[in-house]
This record gives sequence, C-alpha cells and structure tokens, in this order.
Amino acid sequence: MKITNKHNVPETLVALASRQYYSKGKADYSVTEIISPPRIQRLRRKHYEEMEQDVSEMLWSLLGSALHVVAERGQHEGYITEERLFTEIDGVTLSGAIDIQKSTPEGILITDYKFTSAWALRQDKPEWEAQQNIYAWLVQRVKKTPVVGVQICALIRDWSRREASVKADYPQAPIQVIDLPLWESSYTEQYITERLNAHRESKVAADWGDELPPCSAEDRWVRGDSWAVMREGKKRASKVCDTEEEAKEVMASISEKEKPYIEKRAGEAIRCTGDFCGVSKWCNQYQQSLKN
Ligand code: SF4
Repeated sequence: MKITNKHNVPETLVALASRQYYSKGKADYSVTEIISPPRIQRLRRKHYEEMEQDVSEMLWSLLGSALHVVAERGQHEGYITEERLFTEIDGVTLSGAIDIQKSTPEGILITDYKFTSAWALRQDKPEWEAQQNIYAWLVQRVKKTPVVGVQICALIRDWSRREASVKADYPQAPIQVIDLPLWESSYTEQYITERLNAHRESKVAADWGDELPPCSAEDRWVRGDSWAVMREGKKRASKVCDTEEEAKEVMASISEKEKPYIEKRAGEAIRCTGDFCGVSKWCNQYQQSLKN
C-alpha cells in the first residue's frame, strides 16, 4: 500500500501511517477478515501493492491504532486488555484480538472500542454483533470460561452537544456503551464455518481466475432513496429524510419566504461509490454497475 502526502502534513504522520500496527499473528484468518466480504479480501490481497491512500484520509484509522496502544496501558484489576486468542477450526487457525475482558463472578464480559459517527451509531451494525460473538466463542473455547455479555464502547467522533440537547434519539454523550445480543455458541460456530467456507471458495475462484463471489447489498452498504429538504439558493439540505412524508413535514415547518422544496436522492452503494473498500477500481461488479 502506497501512502501519499497530498496536503503536505508533517512527515512524522506519514511515518506513523506507514507502520503496520495490526498483525493477526500466526493465524490463517483473523476474526475481522472472516466477517468482511470475501470479494473485498481477495481484491485487497491481489492489489495491495497498487493500493494508494493519502495520509490526510487516515486520521481515524491512525487514532484507532493509537487507542489500542493506549488501551493496552489501561491496566485495572479484574480486566484483561488487548489479548489475542488463537484456535483451530476446520483445519485453519483463527485468531482474534479482544480489547477488554472483564472478569465477573458469572463469567467474562467482552467490550470492544469503536470510533464511529453519530449517524452510523443509529444504524444496524450486524458486523459488530458478529465480531463480538466470535470473540465470545473464542473465549469460551480457549479459556473454558462462560461469557456473560458482549458490548461496544462507541467513541463518537462528530458528537454535538447541541444535537444532543434537541434530539431525543441522538446519543446523549460522546461515549456510549452498547449491549449487543449474545448468540448461542453452536449458532456462532455454524456462522464461523459458513464464513470460512465463503472465503475458501473465493480463494479457489481467485486461484483459478474465475469470477469472485459478488458482494451483497449489505456488503456494499446500499442506502435506500432519501428526500432532501432544500431552500432556494442554498446548496446544503436543511434536512435529509428517509421518507417523503417526513420531508413534507419538515418542509411545512419552513417559512414559505425561504421557498423550500424537496429533492429526491437516489439510493446508492456507499461502500462502492465512496471506495470505502479501497478496491472499487479493480472490482468488475462495481465497474459493471456503473455501465448499467
Ligand atoms: S466496489 Fe463494491 S462490490 Fe466491489 S469489492 Fe468494493 S464493496 Fe464490493
């Protein structure tokens, strides 16, 4: 991966961004790898040397790495921080690094830090649930200790005190702890097996030069249509709504003098269009969709 410096930020930051903080140890797969879409994983492996990212766009991943370093120092009695566990399943070694394990009389409570936006926090996050439940399965399997819960400690990077004071459904503090559903161990093991199979099939397809399995709508972060309430002469929407009805209500609350109107915005696959997977230019599924 080439790290560019288009905005002339200090070279020290470039050096930090170029360092590899993450290692899955001597494992075939990490937990984060198996929950991510096989197509993305294969394309990343194939094009890793050609991939490019500007250091200015890496702030949050850098801070994420920094947080793990700091978290490792946050030692407290009854807590284990930043522990990587390994196990064998279906002939492969799987590893996962767990941010926090808290010992309770009934078992272990697992918590993972996540930097996120206030908007993202209010969306469903199936990948968070899957990741934490695989960690729970790993702990139970490796340590032979029950897990009593899985949760996320969300650090909201764009939190606004003003938004919190006017919106009931807005996070009320910049740090939120969210409990996630704890899966049955047998269900988690079946899920892991299915994910490993999907990644194996994708590897075979890549090795033989066959078509890679497509990313699903969920993988591509497909967002449905939205309705933006605009004011004449203003570029930014007053509000972007999920339904036309909500947009009409917002429009009715704006003075007619401001000449409000509604603009329908077509839904899109955010991960592809924003190149959040990092491989959209090599992905024939996405490139083909642009021609349709
Ligand atoms: S561009 Fe879209 S379809 Fe292609 S790998 Fe990325 S997320 Fe998947």
